[in-house]
Amino acid sequence: MYDTIIIGSGPAGMTAALYAARSNLKVGMIEQGAPGGQMNNTSEIENYPGYDHISGPELSMKMFEPLEKFEVEHIYGIVQKVEDFGSYKRIFTEDSSFDAKTVILATGAKYRLLNAPGEETYTSRGVSYCAVCDGAFFRDQDLLVVGGGDSAVEEAIYLTQFAKSVTIVHRRDQLRAQKILQDRAFANEKISFIWDSVVEEIQGDNIKVSKVLIKNVKTEEVTSHDFGGVFIYVGMLPVTAMVSELDICDNEGWVVTDDQMKTAVPGIFAIGDVRQKNLRQITTAVGDGAIAGQGVYHYIENMK
Ligand code: FAD
Ligand code: NAP
Repeated sequence: MYDTIIIGSGPAGMTAALYAARSNLKVGMIEQGAPGGQMNNTSEIENYPGYDHISGPELSMKMFEPLEKFEVEHIYGIVQKVEDFGSYKRIFTEDSSFDAKTVILATGAKYRLLNAPGEETYTSRGVSYCAVCDGAFFRDQDLLVVGGGDSAVEEAIYLTQFAKSVTIVHRRDQLRAQKILQDRAFANEKISFIWDSVVEEIQGDNIKVSKVLIKNVKTEEVTSHDFGGVFIYVGMLPVTAMVSELDICDNEGWVVTDDQMKTAVPGIFAIGDVRQKNLRQITTAVGDGAIAGQGVYHYIENMK
């Protein structure tokens, strides 16, 4: 029986593991990929205190290394379901199950699909959701970035180091991204914008992307543009399928917690991007992780 099982080893999960392990709890952390979560998908982190600039994979490693000093058990697996038995919880992966007095859900968020015709056909053949992973494959090409938030603008700037040009298509005439990112994008000679427009269809020669049909939402005019790659950043969706039967999510699937990261089910905590919250950042994820890592200690003490 674990004191706590943490699901997900992004910044939220790793911080919770650090705090819980320092309280001498028996901690298991289940992860389906590399530690770091979404941080692994970004090259530039400039708003994490203490670092003027650090790459996502490097910050991931820096958060992971201190865990080696403690007996956090790293378990590879994809969690399918969490069941509540009151005094303990059972966590199911594809081929195992684990019992724990508490669960900390730190499963974060995943990319929202555009659901445009051609998107699925050309995924990994010119359509990408990760500039850091795929950007270098698009040297000297004309690229399209879809979206107007922090991710779209930041990754468009990143792509300019490889691409001949980067066009951002946004459905409104104003970006959602932070002002500092907007200013950098407007000042970048390789970046141009198509405003008030959406992707109508991604086309190619069956091998890779070659054209994108773009519709102006005000005039309804559809125009065809040559692009060698399309990077889609139209927001995130919560990763909560494994707790869908527990009634702890809002209508959009984000987990509702109090300020102690407690969900409606006693002993189940949720932290980081998976929570219903206003600001989804590394700083807020680690803050949530610290509170829950400490919270599970008090919860277990009170059970005694
Ligand atoms: P995540 O980082 O999403 O980690 C969740 C983890 O849970 C993942 O490792 C995942 O594999 C695992 N998981 C999910 N489901 C399961 C399952 N069923 N079984 C096992 N494991 C599972 N924030 C900043 O502050 N500054 C930035 O510069 C910045 N840049 C960004 C750039 C991009 C392109 C993106 C996408 C995000 C960026 N963010 C940035 C946001 C930041 O990365 C997130 O807010 C943060 O990573 C959230 O941390 P988390 O631990 O809650 O979740
Ligand atoms: P986001 O902030 O939700 O922005 C999504 C963008 O996509 C919005 O501009 C939205 O348009 C647009 N969009 C949504 N659905 C669309 C559709 N179907 N068709 C066309 N456009 C669509 O998502 P994000 O940029 O991925 O950011 C997610 C979180 O990570 C945020 O909290 C963000 O602050 C954080 N993040 C932070 C940094 C950083 O701090 N440097 C970097 C990256 C991400 P509207 O504007 O019209 O809604």
